Amino acid sequence: MERVSRTVTAIGPEHLDKTSPRLNWVCPRCRGVLAKAPESYRCEACAGNYPIVAEMPDFRIDQPAWIDFGRDRDRAFAIDEIVRRDGLEAAIFDVFKTSRRFAEQKCHFRTRQVQAGADKYTLQLDGWLADIQADPVIEVGIGPGQLAVALARRGYVPHGIDVSMEWLAVAKHWVREQGVEPVFAGAMAEGLPLPDASVRSYVSLDVIEHVGDQGHYLAEMTRILKPGGHFALVTPNRYSLSPEPHVGVWGVGYLPRPLQAKWVRMRAGVSYDFNRLLSVWELQKLFRESGGLVPQIDFPEIAEAEISLFGPGKAKLARLYNQLSRTALFRLIAPLGGAYYRVTGRKPVELAAAE
Ligand SMILES: [Zn+2]
Repeated sequence: MERVSRTVTAIGPEHLDKTSPRLNWVCPRCRGVLAKAPESYRCEACAGNYPIVAEMPDFRIDQPAWIDFGRDRDRAFAIDEIVRRDGLEAAIFDVFKTSRRFAEQKCHFRTRQVQAGADKYTLQLDGWLADIQADPVIEVGIGPGQLAVALARRGYVPHGIDVSMEWLAVAKHWVREQGVEPVFAGAMAEGLPLPDASVRSYVSLDVIEHVGDQGHYLAEMTRILKPGGHFALVTPNRYSLSPEPHVGVWGVGYLPRPLQAKWVRMRAGVSYDFNRLLSVWELQKLFRESGGLVPQIDFPEIAEAEISLFGPGKAKLARLYNQLSRTALFRLIAPLGGAYYRVTGRKPVELAAAE
């Protein structure tokens, strides 16, 4: 705790003049108060019991997800060991190698991509993420912690959840390297362990396309935001002219939903479970049906920092895409071919009054 407040005051700009507040988790089922025991959290209202895994509470509730919770818990402990023994980079590499079973070369590429991510998001905090820096900031889908590290470098106490505690264990160590103690928990984006109207900033990058229930995910975002609070999401576009980013197959999004998984299986031989890319219109409809916030949609250029990690062919295509994206015609047709889009907005003050 002492380390945290020292970091906060040392960095200094006006929005850091205070000690960042630390949120208290609540029961993800009934939002009751939790009592902390040495090895678990217990809900006083519904008697729900939540184990502590690699120093973090596991609030994941029984819902379909892309990972096996039991195996993931073991992996979180294993990551703690690997970080202590071989360091952070080895731990990131091990997630790709052991859990994702990627080939050696791909593991190296993805590890470098993760490590470069903290700088990438540091730049974005001065750009399109400028509005999500009012405390407390909650990130849903921490992953290996790229944004959390960028926030920690600015003196924030990163708060967040992820369905993968294996990645959270990586993120925890990476944030600690910045001299900040994070507030992380394993949880589902569709059942957040946070009280109503408790956060001023909600950020969730490349997550909505993977959650089991996209409507609940948005309803939970709306619920925990304070009136006047901001949200920021990013997601790949369903109708993209570039290959589907998770499986590298062309044309997936243009197919009707029932055929997408078959096409991916045929072309790449992999499962397409827990990938549901949204078109701009599908996203807008989901927002209307799940809490009523109004999203602002923007198709950005691909960042130069990201392009520098691509091979020459893909880099050339990416630069061509960026040139195109500056034209008026592109803005018109982007929803039918743009690679990914950002979704930002604010919870109006009136919405809270009407509830
Ligand atoms: Zn409860």
